[in-house]
Amino acid sequence: MYNYFSPICQGHIIKKELILTHEELEALRLKDLEELEQEECAKKMEVSQPTFHRLIKDARKKVASALIEGHALKIEGGNFAMIGETMKKQCACIKCGLVIEKELGIPCRKLACPKCGSRMIRK
Ligand SMILES: [Zn+2]
Repeated sequence: MYNYFSPICQGHIIKKELILTHEELEALRLKDLEELEQEECAKKMEVSQPTFHRLIKDARKKVASALIEGHALKIEGGNFAMIGETMKKQCACIKCGLVIEKELGIPCRKLACPKCGSRMIRK
């Protein structure tokens, strides 16, 4: 996956590096590349529509600013799964081996096994 974009121009000095989060990138991908409806995009990303709207707005602004004003774009951050990975992560119980699906952004180690109450690890 590409994670850094920078203008190439002799003598050009990058004045600013804009950070595009993985969420913002995914929002761009779903809305502008796959041309899905906003409602569908929000659903796929498991966020509310206002949240999705904010993500896409910020993403477009950063991309436009980078292209027009000659800033570098760095893709990082966010708690969203990388493109190609599944949206839901799985955790496994260290004691009984029970596998559960968890919400994004919650580490497995913070969860307790619903069956035996033991610690969970990332599967
Ligand atoms: Zn268990």
